[in-house]
Amino acid sequence: MNDYLVRATALDGKLRAFACITTELVRELSDRNNALALASAALGRTATMAAIMGVMLKGKETVTLQIRGDGPLGRIVATADSEGHVRGYVENPQVELPPNDGIVFGDVEKLDVGSAVGEGFLFVIKDLGLKEPYIGSVPLATGEIGDDFLYYFAQSEQTPSALGLGVLVGKDQTVTQAGGFLLQLLPGVSDEDIDYIEDQIKQFPHVTTLLEKGHTPEQILQRLIPGEVNFNDKVEIRFQCDCSRDRFARGLISLGEAELVKIVEEDKQAELSCHFCGEVYHFNEAELLGLVTDAKRD
Ligand SMILES: [Zn+2]
Repeated sequence: MNDYLVRATALDGKLRAFACITTELVRELSDRNNALALASAALGRTATMAAIMGVMLKGKETVTLQIRGDGPLGRIVATADSEGHVRGYVENPQVELPPNDGIVFGDVEKLDVGSAVGEGFLFVIKDLGLKEPYIGSVPLATGEIGDDFLYYFAQSEQTPSALGLGVLVGKDQTVTQAGGFLLQLLPGVSDEDIDYIEDQIKQFPHVTTLLEKGHTPEQILQRLIPGEVNFNDKVEIRFQCDCSRDRFARGLISLGEAELVKIVEEDKQAELSCHFCGEVYHFNEAELLGLVTDAKRD
């Protein structure tokens, strides 16, 4: 198991904690998106957050995170389920901007993710198997993704949290480390413990710096949390897309008979590709005519 997430509790159950390593996942997302460093960082942070929020769910529930900023990266989307399956895409994966302050840490210049995302909104869409999904949204705080989710947890879920999301990209544009942690304080945590955690966060190294040094998600939580940490669960995190030919066929049918007939007459075929995984689904003329028949029936 390369990528995994640990779920833990501490402080007599008054602290919920999650930490994960997502290097393989973010590398795969980066490859599938043909993403350069900035897009890999922004998508990787979002996907890491999705992995954490996914394991908070139960059964078949899913969570979709959407960052809709006015910056050059465009829309960033990541979806995860309760079993650690994550997928995601970024609208403009080839964006490049100068580094924001010339600081070099690790082997990479500090990426200006905030400017690449821009101003806008963060959406959290939870499909909990009910008629309507839960949709929460907040304005983006800085566009650095981590800050934006902290603001979301404070505003929308009223949970004081500490959060770190990191993606380290090498000069050759490969993702070398990715991971994150989330601490959520429930009512009843003592001021002393809050002070301790705040101090730890203030002087805490970047999460990718720790991963590079070989720290495990378990060790990251042990460094942050006072007292004993109870690890409840370990979940493998991996890329998985649930797209299928059938799903795309249904999408075509939903265009309606007239639109489908137009495609048959003009193009005689249709080629559709999945945003999330890049899989291409091809429909020839005969198959499209079959869908026209289905559309008539609808
Ligand atoms: Zn797909």
